[in-house]
Amino acid sequence: MTVSVEQRLFQNRYQIDHDRPHIRVKPHDKPSPLLLALTHACPAGCYTKNDHGQVELSVDGCVECGTCRIVCATTGEVEWTYPRGGFGVSYKFG
Ligand code: SF4
Repeated sequence: MTVSVEQRLFQNRYQIDHDRPHIRVKPHDKPSPLLLALTHACPAGCYTKNDHGQVELSVDGCVECGTCRIVCATTGEVEWTYPRGGFGVSYKFG
């Protein structure tokens, strides 16, 4: 039986830090092509484009892979830190 990426990600557990999201997108009118690419590159689908063409982020489901940090390292549009202790993803292995 083939298991999809979405099914595998659903097995993980997340403790969301609502008071201090560990990743933020800087306010912008028009995203750079690199920021826009995150709507496809994030494996957890955390980045979406809104009706105004801006890129929004919901850290729910973030697997802390660092892809967005690397992709936007040169643009500075993404502020990335690890979650505080006790928050973030808990992987289910196996
Ligand atoms: S760290 Fe990875 S999973 Fe989390 S928002 Fe960035 S690209 Fe998505």
